[in-house]
Amino acid sequence: MEITMHEIPVSEVAADYVDTPATGCRGYGGKLNIRPTFQREFVYNEAQRDAVIRTVKSGFPLNVMYWVQSDDGTYEMLDGQQRTISICQYVTGGFSFEYRSFNSLTKTERESILDYKLMIYICVGNDAEKLDWFQVINTAGEKLTEQEARNAIYACPWLTDAKNYFSKPNCPAHNLYRQYLSGKAIRQDYLETALKWICDRDGLRAVENYMDAQKKNSTATAFELWNYFLGVMTWVQAIFPTYREKLMKGLNWGILYNRHKDDALDPARLEREISRLLKDTEVTNKRGIYEYLLSGDEKTLSLRQFDDDQKSAAYERQGGICKLCGKHFELNEMEADHIDPWSAGGKTTLDNCQMLCKSCNRRKSNH
Ligand SMILES: [Zn+2]
Repeated sequence: MEITMHEIPVSEVAADYVDTPATGCRGYGGKLNIRPTFQREFVYNEAQRDAVIRTVKSGFPLNVMYWVQSDDGTYEMLDGQQRTISICQYVTGGFSFEYRSFNSLTKTERESILDYKLMIYICVGNDAEKLDWFQVINTAGEKLTEQEARNAIYACPWLTDAKNYFSKPNCPAHNLYRQYLSGKAIRQDYLETALKWICDRDGLRAVENYMDAQKKNSTATAFELWNYFLGVMTWVQAIFPTYREKLMKGLNWGILYNRHKDDALDPARLEREISRLLKDTEVTNKRGIYEYLLSGDEKTLSLRQFDDDQKSAAYERQGGICKLCGKHFELNEMEADHIDPWSAGGKTTLDNCQMLCKSCNRRKSNH
């Protein structure tokens, strides 16, 4: 059994895509059987399908897919069927996303989707081995975590070294920093976290890219990864010296470090801000406080929203008239807006609520 990693653009995977009872569901120039007999029927709902397209359009990574290569050079899809069908249907005009069909996108938008690379493991082996892989990837029992599956594929001296730091029950990552990490060392969660952070730093799309490079370099040690990880943790403890478990455990500290390690920060001022925001009942996602203080992005705080009673009371008070354009709308055509925004001390109370039509509200929030 041999497993290799490939990056294949959407344009190639969706080439000659067909899905009829006569032909079956095929792509990749007719060479890929997307729905082999052992696969489930297509069951994604609209929201899941849209989530796939949104991921591709944003250029974010999708999870790895598995294909099995047959002796005649064709392929069967082992895992990834529903994501693949979503993408193929979209680029062949099967449905619209955010009210736009693929053909109505600009040339640049279309090209960026067609150039998006899917990460695919291609497995070559006999039927018994393929079946083993299918069991491992898809079925019940103690399913492998993604990182355990990666470790099976990228076993090498570098990985043995990395496991000493991140994967043993009493490894340094556990002994020193478990209070900042979610998951378990033994299930490879710490290793996966560190790898995701360093991939973000290096602009790599997937953990597989980093591990593949380490496997190909016979003299690679995991010291680079460990040293980077130490840098992240030292930075966190220096700028946020007061430890709060509920807020801090499992945050993506490495991503924040990559973006903000060179910012001029004042730990005493940050601590005062944390304390103030913890008491602010408008902030419903307290775990977003750290990211907010570094990036200034209010979205991370999930600020309180007006409830339905407040919305209909404000609507009645205005007689259904949009406060900005002065036109009349039905309640379900309007959205609630804070007259004084949170950043200016505005609260989510009826006297600070106004109803705006959707287009006025969007225009206002873009300013
Ligand atoms: Zn309006």
